[in-house]
Amino acid sequence: NLTDRLEQSFKMLKGQGMITEINVAETLKDIRRALLDADVNFKIAKQFTDDVKEKALGQQVLTAVKPGQLMVKIVKDELTQLMGGETAEIELTGSPSVILMAGLQGSGKTTFSGKLANMLKRKKGRHPLLVAGDVYRPAAIDQLKVVGEQIDVPVYTEDGNKDPVKIAKAAIKEAKTKGHDVVIIDTAGRLAIDEQMMKEISSIKNAVEPDEILFVVDAMTGQDAVNTAKEFNDTLDFDGVVLTKLDGDTRGGAALSIRSVVEKPIKFVGTGEKMDAVDVFHPTRMADRILGMGDVVSLVEKAQEQFDEGEARKLQKKLAKNTFNFDDFLKQINQIKKMGDLKDVVSMIPGMGKAMKNMDLDDDAFKHIEAIIHSMTPEERENPAVINGSRRKRIANGSGTNIQEVNRLLKQFAETRKMMKAVSQGKNVQRMMGGMK
Ligand code: GDP
Ligand code: MG
Repeated sequence: NLTDRLEQSFKMLKGQGMITEINVAETLKDIRRALLDADVNFKIAKQFTDDVKEKALGQQVLTAVKPGQLMVKIVKDELTQLMGGETAEIELTGSPSVILMAGLQGSGKTTFSGKLANMLKRKKGRHPLLVAGDVYRPAAIDQLKVVGEQIDVPVYTEDGNKDPVKIAKAAIKEAKTKGHDVVIIDTAGRLAIDEQMMKEISSIKNAVEPDEILFVVDAMTGQDAVNTAKEFNDTLDFDGVVLTKLDGDTRGGAALSIRSVVEKPIKFVGTGEKMDAVDVFHPTRMADRILGMGDVVSLVEKAQEQFDEGEARKLQKKLAKNTFNFDDFLKQINQIKKMGDLKDVVSMIPGMGKAMKNMDLDDDAFKHIEAIIHSMTPEERENPAVINGSRRKRIANGSGTNIQEVNRLLKQFAETRKMMKAVSQGKNVQRMMGGMK
């Protein structure tokens, strides 16, 4: 995937004193290929590598900064820029604020409507009303009702009424009388773009004048996502994009392309089927994630939300100081298990997403790892460097695993630690190079 390939090409730059035409050419080629593989539009990939090349060539590398790190910073900055630079807020000024969902069938509109209502209710103290505007399939209305029940948000429906424009208008009226300050209108989609769908969503738009039209798109559809975004934008001139199904290792190509093709910001990402599997889109963090550093910031934030803050702060410090050891690893595993859907979380830990990719991601996935760590002495956990061949054999026997598994874990751990170091040093790099822009 994109992450692996970028890691690979950065490795090539390691230890070279200065970025030159020669040592950068291969890397740029790799980056371009990786972007294309991740479904990034050809023109955008080319533009991207041209920009990176221009910035990178001839840069005098500060003694403390390796060329590899400098390239990472340049690529990361470019990626961030490509995805919009800054976090984009949604417009919530109307009374009530009206938010209209648009997108193909199966893109995740109904699910995201629920997630957004839940987020606005829990984090912003809002009183949302969900509106069932997908009137053609009774199952769609039921689905929204189930979502509403899960998050304890009322759902406006009209049995038998097949006119979504009238329903939307009536819902807004109802919101006013019942004191709802946000109205979220879920709509019908088709499997492919069709004229009737576009007409319908346009007439809802004209009738209710939404404060915010969000285009919802499945990140797994790659280049198609970009084409769909363009067509919807031509008709609706929407305000922002919601990228769903960005769980685990889903390729980030769509995120890279959409912004530059439609020039609208990505505002949210969906990362799972549950109602809390949603994040505000942060271009810098997405760039980090794509670069394979793991989304440490999100992880730490999620951690702070889910377990006690003291632990999270300790973890943050450990990451920065690189004193992370197997005891911390074990603690982290236990905390991750507490944090709910494992799949959502694992991909955010540096190095872990890759290590865990082929495992069955339930709590059992950690059983062997835990057994191995439990078979280590306190000294070994604190300082894994002492674990030599005979110790490995003892640990394998004690944990009921085998040498290969022990070796694999030690290797993964070492990689994780290296990644964490790189991430925490990334901050210093940025500071040091502040004057170089
Ligand atoms: P709609 O037709 O646009 O309303 O799409 P739905 O909200 O019904 O979603 C279609 C399917 O995708 C459902 O099975 C959802 O559970 C699933 N889904 C939606 N968002 C996400 C997401 O962020 N991650 C994952 N893994 N599944 C999602
Ligand atoms: Mg739906």
